[in-house]
Amino acid sequence: MLSEKNFWNSTVEPASRPDAAVPSRVDVAIVGGGYAGLSAARVLARSGARVAVLEQETVGWGASSRNAGMVLTGMKLGPEALVKKYGEARARRMFAFSLSAIDTVERIVNEEQIACGFARSGHLEAAWKPAHFAGYAAAAEFMEKTFGHRVQVLEASNCQSLTHAFTSTSRTVRRRYPRSTCVGKARPRTTSPGS
Ligand SMILES: Cc1cc2nc3c(=O)[nH]c(=O)nc-3n(C[C@H](O)[C@H](O)[C@H](O)COP(=O)(O)OP(=O)(O)OC[C@H]3O[C@@H](n4cnc5c(N)ncnc54)[C@H](O)[C@@H]3O)c2cc1C
Repeated sequence: MLSEKNFWNSTVEPASRPDAAVPSRVDVAIVGGGYAGLSAARVLARSGARVAVLEQETVGWGASSRNAGMVLTGMKLGPEALVKKYGEARARRMFAFSLSAIDTVERIVNEEQIACGFARSGHLEAAWKPAHFAGYAAAAEFMEKTFGHRVQVLEASNCQSLTHAFTSTSRTVRRRYPRSTCVGKARPRTTSPGS
């Protein structure tokens, strides 16, 4: 039978609202308890600042607990579009940031012991139809030449034997459960500088 429940919400307890009153004075007040707000708060608190995260719903209520949980290489724009829009040098830096961001996610998950099922499990990009597949080889070549990043183009038969599914290309992917990442980050804890 088809389940119409939200997977993330029904597999992880949402973070509870803290009982503590909002402090009257802090060094930094951050509005929004999603990935951005929580990460900023974590970095500031670890450097010794007194920080309050002000969230109008519950921690992770926004996009951070509603996404697909994929931590992918590259940006939303494809490699060629990125270079066209920002120039090669900038696009290279952006691509490099996207790779280091994956390591950052993994490091935070490990440091905070967030039980979010983080795994480096590969990234499969599937072509909808043969015409789309035709561009993959050129895109792979462009990505290797411009960013030094190698991807493997798989023929349908090859791909099916590996995945039992699509005609596609393969890159590297990391996956985590979004709600548990937020809940994990929001665990009440005392942070001393440098801890
Ligand atoms: C459907 C979907 C799928 C996605 N899939 C992926 C994916 O697979 N991989 C990936 O990397 N990214 C994905 N994303 C993007 C990713 O989820 C967002 O980039 C990220 O969560 C943004 O985090 P944030 O902290 O900026 O915003 P949010 O998580 O939205 O946090 C903002 C918070 O601010 C609070 N807030 C707003 N206004 C106020 C106020 N005035 N006072 C107090 N609190 C306030 C909100 O309640 C909310 O909790 C996806 C996004 C969506 C929507």
